[in-house]
Amino acid sequence: MKDSMESLGIAPIINAAGSVTHLSASPVAAGIAQAMAAAAQSSIDIADAQAHASGIIAELTGADAGIVTSGASAGLLLGAAACLAGLDAGAMDRLPDTSGMRNEFIVPRSHRNSYDHAVRAAGGRFVEAGVADRIVGVGVRDTEGWELEGAITERTAGFFYVARPDSRPALPEVAVIARRNRLPLLVDAAAELPPKGNLRRFIDEGADLVVFSGGKAIGGPMASGILCGRRSLIVSALLQQLDLDFEFSSWQPPASLIDKHELKCVPRNGIGRSCKVGKEQIVGLLLALETFAATPDAVREERLTLVAQSLLEALRTVPDLQARVVADEENRGVPRVEIKAAGHDAQEVANRLRAGIPSVRLDASRARAGVLLLIPTCLSSADAVPIARAFARALT
Ligand SMILES: *Cc1c(COP(=O)(O)O)cnc(C)c1O
Repeated sequence: MKDSMESLGIAPIINAAGSVTHLSASPVAAGIAQAMAAAAQSSIDIADAQAHASGIIAELTGADAGIVTSGASAGLLLGAAACLAGLDAGAMDRLPDTSGMRNEFIVPRSHRNSYDHAVRAAGGRFVEAGVADRIVGVGVRDTEGWELEGAITERTAGFFYVARPDSRPALPEVAVIARRNRLPLLVDAAAELPPKGNLRRFIDEGADLVVFSGGKAIGGPMASGILCGRRSLIVSALLQQLDLDFEFSSWQPPASLIDKHELKCVPRNGIGRSCKVGKEQIVGLLLALETFAATPDAVREERLTLVAQSLLEALRTVPDLQARVVADEENRGVPRVEIKAAGHDAQEVANRLRAGIPSVRLDASRARAGVLLLIPTCLSSADAVPIARAFARALT
């Protein structure tokens, strides 16, 4: 397989930067790759497969229902579209035109980020609430619940929240406000795994819709993700994602998820049709999710620690390098190797590693402080020696 990739002129890299999208997220495990290849060579009914996926996702997240998406970003677009249109086929058909509709998502100002474009792409408009004083040295406060509640108008479609370890206000507080006002709460938790307990946490804390990336820690296909939450919203999201080229009389949606009689017609292909998922994504994501959920966090941490140790071991042979294993800042059990190269410009070292063959990519976000980081998520112990050799070359 690697050979056929190289015949296309696409060279594999050594990814010591973690499961980042621009470096193709996490490699999938061999068993999952085989199952995806088998799926690719078969035919399935996509709606039925999504209904089946919903059962598995519901069991592992505690949500009513869930679907496989083509990424967390697609999950945000579909989740926002569900909040905007509900089960109204006319509204689904109009998106992203939301003129005259409830189309505002209230968001704590500090939660705005580049990925929220997906909510705007569905037709949502953001209404930012509060001020993040805590960013300033003397400030302690972020947006508060009363500010979110005060932003509600007859144009409000829902709340948008980005789950990070230091997100404020706390999610349960926002969930109480959303429920009290009968508004849906859409949560971006794309990169909040591990710990695996977070699969259930945001639903437990009262979110109506939660989005996870499939290609990050779950280890699913790069172009996969999960949208889970309240059944009616998930049905809306799925209807806006599926290809729906049917007459109402002959349409047979999966009865375990979609009650045909809740709808008076077959919706037209919706805004999510352009982020469809393939059978390979559905099969790969579900298998990866089952494996992720069945693996204790300690086992994952142990594997990553062993990889970090072998990196450390191999790097000992490189003169001028100081390396040590450090915990990640958020204490998620993803240890990393911190490297300092005395007498060398760290960014220049990173550039040389990148230009080498094979190209080695690492986390250079702290290069200005003279620190390079090797993140073991996408590595195995077999990468340690090639990485040490690449450092030896880059430093001479
Ligand atoms: C990675 C990420 C996304 C996008 O995830 P994809 O699965 O690549 O679409 C969205 N939001 C946040 C906070 C992320 O970290």
